[in-house]
Amino acid sequence: MQDIRWNSFWVLVFVSFLSLMVWGFKSLEAALFFFTSCLTFYLLSHVYWIHRLNKWLKNPNLSTIPSGSGIWEEIFALLYREYRKQKRSKSELTTTLGRFMTAAEAIPDGIIALNQNNEIEWCNKPSEKMLGVNLSKDINQPINYLLRETSFTEYLNNNKNDATLKLISWRNTGRSFEILLVPFGANQKLLICRDITQLEKNDSIKRDFIANVSHELKTPLTVIVGFLETLSDMKNEFNEKTRPYLQMMLEQSDRMRRLVEDLLKLSSIESNAAPAMKKEINMSQLFKDLKKDSALLSNKEHKITMSISKNISLLGYEKEIYSAFFNLIINAIHYTKKGGSINVIWGMKNQRPYFEVQDSGIGIDEKLIPRLTERFFRIDADRSRKSGGTGLGLSIVKHVCIRHQAQIEITSQMGKGSQFKIVFPQDRLSLNT
Ligand code: ADP
Repeated sequence: MQDIRWNSFWVLVFVSFLSLMVWGFKSLEAALFFFTSCLTFYLLSHVYWIHRLNKWLKNPNLSTIPSGSGIWEEIFALLYREYRKQKRSKSELTTTLGRFMTAAEAIPDGIIALNQNNEIEWCNKPSEKMLGVNLSKDINQPINYLLRETSFTEYLNNNKNDATLKLISWRNTGRSFEILLVPFGANQKLLICRDITQLEKNDSIKRDFIANVSHELKTPLTVIVGFLETLSDMKNEFNEKTRPYLQMMLEQSDRMRRLVEDLLKLSSIESNAAPAMKKEINMSQLFKDLKKDSALLSNKEHKITMSISKNISLLGYEKEIYSAFFNLIINAIHYTKKGGSINVIWGMKNQRPYFEVQDSGIGIDEKLIPRLTERFFRIDADRSRKSGGTGLGLSIVKHVCIRHQAQIEITSQMGKGSQFKIVFPQDRLSLNT
């Protein structure tokens, strides 16, 4: 801008000087005529170059940029440089994007980019194969029009960070996928689909192996425990020295029996991928059984209270539900000192039935809570063993919850106590009027 003003100034000075000379040599009229003619010509030349610039801007191309003259030469040179810079960065961006797209295509996982309305913006080839999406036809289509599984729609609407969904393929029989939704940008999502068929197969081989071994161990163990119990009834036949050994053998074989039983229970629940049946459970009877078994286990060492909302029933598999509920009570008893209190509640919140066990026990370090449902995870292995724990109780609870689409919520304070809550979905609620 500075240059243009400067340039125009000198043109004006030059024309004025010439006009003064014309006035000196000829007349004032001739000088004025000369001055206005020069200015008109100067203005017309600017109009001409503005017109050329306008024409070029309508269809910008490096090879057709005008060369200009005077100040316009400089303007067009600047434009040329800027436009070339832009073109170079555009081509660099295109190359990077191309490279990124090729890399995204090479990823074996299926990837679908969804906008804020869950409509397909882009997808890679593996996702086309896995989920039957066709980018050319399905672009801008809502993803749940293509994946019509109820579980998927629920997952899409109530997506929680890190949560994944297992889908059995309806297109490729025998294949299973794991779906993960990752939020990015402005409310957009990346849907990542991974083929977990082989992993599932390996898991099932592992489960079958554990189930078979446990099953094979069960009979000899029952025989050993039986004989040891008979021998312990004949205590007097043994001398002072051998009696403790007999007691130890009895304790350890009993521990092994419990472990085998828990392993068998866990593998039977785990191997059943289908949701648990929806049979109405008689909660009053179930609570009577829980009360009786808890009293036996606690041996009057704890204050156990049970509160039950009698009009709320649960639709599920009674045997599994009993096992999960009792495992939570067993833990509360094991990890609460003598004289401590344990509250067991069956109730409803937000139209969802729940079972809760609160204890005033030793509590759990907050950092360890996410690991509690792992198989054989114990905070204090020695304590768990002494209390007769197998390290499988909460794994069993977790799998019963999965089979009943329930969530397990754990809160605890060190030295003050813990709360374990199982929240069931609304469709497992039955109200007795
Ligand atoms: P275990 O047979 O060892 O009790 P679980 O799977 O039932 O195995 O529990 C895993 C671990 O979680 C236990 O070893 C214990 O350390 C901890 N735990 C479970 N319930 C409680 C509780 N109510 N209070 C304190 N710690 C608990």
